[in-house]
Amino acid sequence: MCLKNSAILPFLIVSAILSILYFSSSAFADPFSDKEAVKIILNQPDAIRDLVETGINIGDVNGCSVTAYVDTGEQEMLRALGYLFTPALSPKPLLKKGAEISGHTYPTYAEITEELTHPTTGLAARYPDICIVESAGKSVQGNDLWWVRISDNPGVEEPEPEVHYISTLHGDEPVGTVLCLELIRYLLDNYNTDAGIKALIDSTEIWIMPLMNPDGYADGDPYNNSRHNADGDDLNRSFPDPSGDTKETFTLTTGRPDEVARIMDWALETTPVMGASFHTGALVVNYPFDYTYDASPDDSLFEAISLTYSEQNIPLFNSSDPSSAENGIVRGSDWYKIAGGLQDWIYLGVGGNHVTIELSSIKQPDESELDTLWEENREAMIAYLQTVHTSVQGVITDKSTGDPLSAWVRIEGIDHAIYTDPDKGDYCRMLVPGDYRLIARAEGYQPYTGAITITEGVPTFLNIELETGEDPSGDDGVNWPAESNSTGNSGGGGNGSSGGGSVSDPLPVSEAGSDSGGCFISDLSAGIQRGNP
Ligand code: ZN
Repeated sequence: MCLKNSAILPFLIVSAILSILYFSSSAFADPFSDKEAVKIILNQPDAIRDLVETGINIGDVNGCSVTAYVDTGEQEMLRALGYLFTPALSPKPLLKKGAEISGHTYPTYAEITEELTHPTTGLAARYPDICIVESAGKSVQGNDLWWVRISDNPGVEEPEPEVHYISTLHGDEPVGTVLCLELIRYLLDNYNTDAGIKALIDSTEIWIMPLMNPDGYADGDPYNNSRHNADGDDLNRSFPDPSGDTKETFTLTTGRPDEVARIMDWALETTPVMGASFHTGALVVNYPFDYTYDASPDDSLFEAISLTYSEQNIPLFNSSDPSSAENGIVRGSDWYKIAGGLQDWIYLGVGGNHVTIELSSIKQPDESELDTLWEENREAMIAYLQTVHTSVQGVITDKSTGDPLSAWVRIEGIDHAIYTDPDKGDYCRMLVPGDYRLIARAEGYQPYTGAITITEGVPTFLNIELETGEDPSGDDGVNWPAESNSTGNSGGGGNGSSGGGSVSDPLPVSEAGSDSGGCFISDLSAGIQRGNP
């Protein structure tokens, strides 16, 4: 089945070989979904834009090699459109199940729960002054979605920016779970000895969810885990976005997967300022937007904070997975467009900055590699959270009563609102260093406008008192793109909007691999041998 050095093979021969491969390879059965992981080969990287418009669930793209999750009907559609694909082979044989492991292992859900919540030996019990553990709610199968909160007065809401990490929306991508648990231990263990860690914990509210999809994770067992939740939903394709929702449904949890609804509830209540989620299958920091080819209003900010992560992780900084990345970062839709991702919703729905960090090209690396992955990501994980302090921070209150306000803040020239936490009135607007004009608004109040200067790593503090009155601007404080690209997008938003847009030019694999920007058919064998990344 080796196709190496066969870039010039005629199309028909390749097709014949593909058919043999298709029927002889064992596919990677997903316990929660009838969708099969397949490897699709494009004739040139740009062809991904047409593939996206078919509405299938794409999970990874590197150059001309695409991993997608498709049911039998979608497989027929792809064939009819002329796409060539094979089953993506399972990474399972890579893991030495039961082998003697030193260092990190993929923990079971019970082990995670015990380490976090055991009444005497759990982390919350051992570090009660700076850590509490609470459940955000239950997964489909009734497993708690654990939040670990780390701050100087955990459980007491203070006017401090909320930062967050969420891992393993895809249950078959377990590395971030291990790294988040290690980060929790590291922050707690070093609070009293590391001034930088102490400053971070004292000045922010850190929320870490090591495992958002415990059902799909299946105790870290690669023989039984699933990308999906127990209802077969892809959690990182099930958040609202402007391509599948209206302004009115954008913050409604109705019809969403349980795990997605719990994260939405949390974010709407907590108004997180910044954070990230962890995946595997590539080695890159991916920033908004995912749902549209348009750059976000904060594109330069996202680029800066993504670089903060990649610059601390040399393998990631130098990664060419995906090939569209530069210095380890990529704008999501420049890689491949998706609908219903977490990062776009956090940014638009609650105003927070959120990126998607792909930790390993291999979805489930051998446990012997986890120590190295932790070493490579430790400083990056900390440095990224510290970017929250390159910002203007303060509280917005009613001038006459002193009460905290549910208000929003804009920066002149950047079409994006961020919100106060209405319980304390605190806000935090991250910006790249420079001079800006800030506008604060609340319903029934006169707007405030003032000049600010943002300095690298040091917050600018600005408390604002608003006077009741008229605001003639008509600004309703909702982030909604002026020209929403609401039709013909790929489906997958929780409202069941299915794409299925027509594709006029199916772009089958051609032998024109030597054309500029084209792809060699030998990429196919590379993709197959590499397994399902
Ligand atoms: Zn993922």
